[in-house]
Amino acid sequence: RRAEFAAIRSLPPISKDGVRATLMVNAGLAEDAGALDATGADGIGLFRTEFQFLVSAALPGRDAQYRLYRQVLEAAGDRPVVFRTVDIGGDKALPYLADATDEAENPAMGWRALRLSLDRSTLMKAQARALIEAAEGRVLRVMFPMISEPWEYEEARTLFEAQIEWVKARRPGPARVEFGAMLEVPSLAEMLDQLLPRINFLSIGTNDLTQFLFAADRADPRLAERYDWLSPAILRFLRRVAREAAAAGVPVRVCGEMGGRPLEAMALMGIGIHNFSITPAAIGPVKAMIRSLDVGAVRGKLEALLAKPPRDMRKALTDWAKRHS
Ligand code: PEP
Ligand code: MG
Repeated sequence: RRAEFAAIRSLPPISKDGVRATLMVNAGLAEDAGALDATGADGIGLFRTEFQFLVSAALPGRDAQYRLYRQVLEAAGDRPVVFRTVDIGGDKALPYLADATDEAENPAMGWRALRLSLDRSTLMKAQARALIEAAEGRVLRVMFPMISEPWEYEEARTLFEAQIEWVKARRPGPARVEFGAMLEVPSLAEMLDQLLPRINFLSIGTNDLTQFLFAADRADPRLAERYDWLSPAILRFLRRVAREAAAAGVPVRVCGEMGGRPLEAMALMGIGIHNFSITPAAIGPVKAMIRSLDVGAVRGKLEALLAKPPRDMRKALTDWAKRHS
């Protein structure tokens, strides 16, 4: 199969009935940008900026951040890079940010990601400046993690816009800035009518989203087999989000691990999600799946299955996939 994936490396992820999907990679280190050429991906759909913080002995300064972002943008060339502001705190231990690594009982639901960034605005301002300056003359794409309510997005965006003004008063800024929201806390899905008109793109973090939807710790091995990404609850939830976003003309991407599995990605195509940011090793298998897929047919199948869900959705989809190559 390796040879098969290599053979389609430079071919686009287009379905048999002509739907152009986009396949981007998740990354976190400067070296990861090399995965773009190795896989033929469309860009970096999730750059986890906290990696630099996690591997540093001290808080990375604005210059160190700037250098990393600049390096990644240069390696990506014309291909888009979506930077996610830091998702630190909770269970991600940072010795130099002692109060952000407390012994919270539920760290995943604790003081982390955008919650921490908004409370520690000095930290977020430094990251904003580093991103804005690194993207000089280019498009800057930035998204915020763990948004629970639209006001958090607004506050983060306002902070960025103030920094853009500041930079532009002194030197050329980015050619354009696109702001996105991550949907990984279920409450945000109820507020999409408020959020969608304010964002350029929506990125669904299915790793966190599913643990919050099912109230099931994503790191607990005893629960790993219990709830399935292909469960009707998740697929119906995501279909509703995809429909609302499509109606508002806002592009949607899945950036969780779910999108990197061919069967799951097939189901996502069937509910109207065509953009994925996944681990580099998954690009070949998912592209091969898309190139053999009839999106119209899988859409009809998903509609029927979600109208009257079988007990074993995975089996139903596996059987269908086998029959349709
Ligand atoms: C997610 O939650 O799905 C996601 C992409 O973010 P992370 O895995 O970094 O929490
Ligand atoms: Mg997440």
